[in-house]
Amino acid sequence: MNRHFDLIAIGGGSGGLAVAERAAQLGRRAAIVEAAEIGGTCVNAGCVPKKVMWYAAQLAHAVDDAPGFGVPASRGTTDWAALLAARERYVADIRRYWNGYVGEVGITRIDGRARFMEAHTLVVDGKHYTADHIVIATGGHPLVPSVPGAELGITSDGFFALREQPRRVAVIGGGYIGVELAGVLQALGSEVALVAREDRVLERFDPMISEVLGNQMRRQGIALHLGRAVTALQREPLGIAVVADGERLGGFDTVIWAVGRRANIEGLNLEAAGICAAPDGTVSVDQWQQTGVKGVYAIGDVTGRVPLTPVAIAAGRRLAERLFGEAPRARVSYDNVPSVVFAHPPVGSVGLTEPEARARFDQVSTYSTRFTPMRHALSTHPTETAMKLVCAGEDERVVGIHLIGEGVDEMLQGFAVALKMGATKADLDATLPVHPVSAEELVTLKRPDLEQEVWREVG
Ligand SMILES: Cc1cc2nc3c(=O)[nH]c(=O)nc-3n(C[C@H](O)[C@H](O)[C@H](O)COP(=O)(O)OP(=O)(O)OC[C@H]3O[C@@H](n4cnc5c(N)ncnc54)[C@H](O)[C@@H]3O)c2cc1C
Repeated sequence: MNRHFDLIAIGGGSGGLAVAERAAQLGRRAAIVEAAEIGGTCVNAGCVPKKVMWYAAQLAHAVDDAPGFGVPASRGTTDWAALLAARERYVADIRRYWNGYVGEVGITRIDGRARFMEAHTLVVDGKHYTADHIVIATGGHPLVPSVPGAELGITSDGFFALREQPRRVAVIGGGYIGVELAGVLQALGSEVALVAREDRVLERFDPMISEVLGNQMRRQGIALHLGRAVTALQREPLGIAVVADGERLGGFDTVIWAVGRRANIEGLNLEAAGICAAPDGTVSVDQWQQTGVKGVYAIGDVTGRVPLTPVAIAAGRRLAERLFGEAPRARVSYDNVPSVVFAHPPVGSVGLTEPEARARFDQVSTYSTRFTPMRHALSTHPTETAMKLVCAGEDERVVGIHLIGEGVDEMLQGFAVALKMGATKADLDATLPVHPVSAEELVTLKRPDLEQEVWREVG
């Protein structure tokens, strides 16, 4: 094998595959080095298996709600083994697709763990590979804090490896991964406690989202222990105890750490390439994904910037287009990235939160609504929907959209386009609503001082 390439991506996850794919499509010799499974976190231990679990949980909620519509249904015990088998088949299919596609598009796959020998030379299993451009796309791994007994807990990786459904679970962490795992487990029949250092779940989201989701989680039976830092895990006769600021919560058979992620740089030998990792362990890059060393770049989670799959993919594609295509100024924008939290109900958010907008603009107006959608008006588990538009300036440009409720996961994308295009509140007002759907509320929002148009039969 010729061991010199135009581009080598270290990591065959979302970012690495994207940059290598685009380079290959542009006629360049591209390679990926992958130490584990192709597809990286998203395919194997992130978005994809998580969404399968979320669908299962949504179906469980739907079964609970069905009798309210006269549809006889009741739930027994979740068949965890069947769920896992279906999920693993699906994930294996995606991996199979990628394994085939990599060859078809002309990317060379190198199996093993890459280490820098110098800026343009990598060593994998004792063999040397060189490239004009090397892209660090090594992603991240779940953080386990160094508190006594920490090893008694598992992480999101361990969650996806669970062969049996846990009976009593403590999820530690109130960020998006924590609330997602807690919601899935509770819906599927586990007894769940969520312990978080912050005073509210999804602290980085608009306060309205945290409030509504926190209430919803409590209503579903999740025990929220907020404002408590976990100081130890302890083995006890009936399982594992979580010690949090003096409080002791006992009897868990599973404890899941969901307290953040760290960049994968260990063993990369970055120093040999002349790269110095940032104090938080990420690889710093400029707006062109360029590290401090010419011809060496970083994309995706390893950079610590907006760690989401579409961001890693976009950064990879733009980088290849800039290096090899006819787009010398291509780069990804890290502003206004839409994101969804697959909670129950889901959360969708793009742009500035209200506090962020107030800190940035003199003139800020907000429009919000809360209602019970038709789907839940008839169910025995009424679930609230809440929406907020954050607008700035005299022309009321929409700078933030924050949604929680049934269907907002699919609703957000189109509204994110409007925000990105600079839509104003007047533009939304000028758009006729679809009826009866929840999304119509977003184009019929009135100022709090004006009479709110109320559609009782919001769908
Ligand atoms: C539980 C969970 C749920 C998530 N849900 C979502 C979601 O719903 N939506 C969303 O957009 N994002 C989600 N994410 C985030 C998403 O998975 C990441 O943002 C995305 O995978 C980042 O892509 P990446 O290419 O930077 O890294 P990764 O996908 O992690 O890929 C990095 C790859 O590099 C390999 N590697 C590391 N070091 C080396 C080395 N030295 N040599 C060779 N290979 C190496 C690794 O094995 C890995 O395959 C989720 C993450 C988690 C953990």
